[in-house]
Amino acid sequence: YPRRMADNRSESAALLAAVRFAADKHRTQKRKDVEASPYINHPIAVAEILATVGGVTDCNVLRAAVLHDTLEDTATTKEELVALFGRAVANLVAEVTDDKSLPKKKRKKLQIAHARTLSRKAKLIKLGDKICNISDVTSSPPKNWSRKRRLEYFDWSRKVVAGCRGVNAKLEKRFDESVASGERQLMAK
Ligand code: NDP
Ligand code: ZN
Repeated sequence: YPRRMADNRSESAALLAAVRFAADKHRTQKRKDVEASPYINHPIAVAEILATVGGVTDCNVLRAAVLHDTLEDTATTKEELVALFGRAVANLVAEVTDDKSLPKKKRKKLQIAHARTLSRKAKLIKLGDKICNISDVTSSPPKNWSRKRRLEYFDWSRKVVAGCRGVNAKLEKRFDESVASGERQLMAK
């Protein structure tokens, strides 16, 4: 017998399990905006952008998007992700995780170099993440960020995304539009 194809119900259940897991892991964390929004809003927004703008239907990509900051920003281990969500999802999350033992400046540089080496699926998640962060830096930036720092964030993101091109034209277009719009709004100030 061929392996039973996952039906829509189990795919939804699998995605919801990832949402609940990420919500629990990020439960005490806030985004850096003035309102200190719940952190989980961000990974949910990334998954939503992939589905709505990118037309991504691969459930493992959407689950990994929801989980994308758990290894980097919470006490989650890769083994935990493997046990709960399988090797494919855990590997995707690991791919988009920065090595936090490195100093920040080095990490930022490495993210640019590393982007080109990511798998196609990991590039989708990186694109979604950068689209959402550009939108946040434009409309609900970290408190105390100067205009200069916000513009520098756009430049750095552009360099990361340069290494992620060629995987999804709609997401790449949305990224370009978001940066252009953000820059227009900041230049007008
Ligand atoms: P940080 O990495 O400190 O902060 C940005 C990250 O914070 C995002 O990538 C996002 O990551 C997370 N985040 C949480 N809340 C928000 C929010 N509301 N809006 C946007 N992002 C949020 O940024 P850097 O300090 O690395 O700054 C980026 C650029 O700015 C670099 O090029 C650096 O050189 C430059 N810089 C400029 C300074 C200046 O004063 N001019 C000072 C320091 C850096 P995630 O999705 O993973 O949560
Ligand atoms: Zn993120």
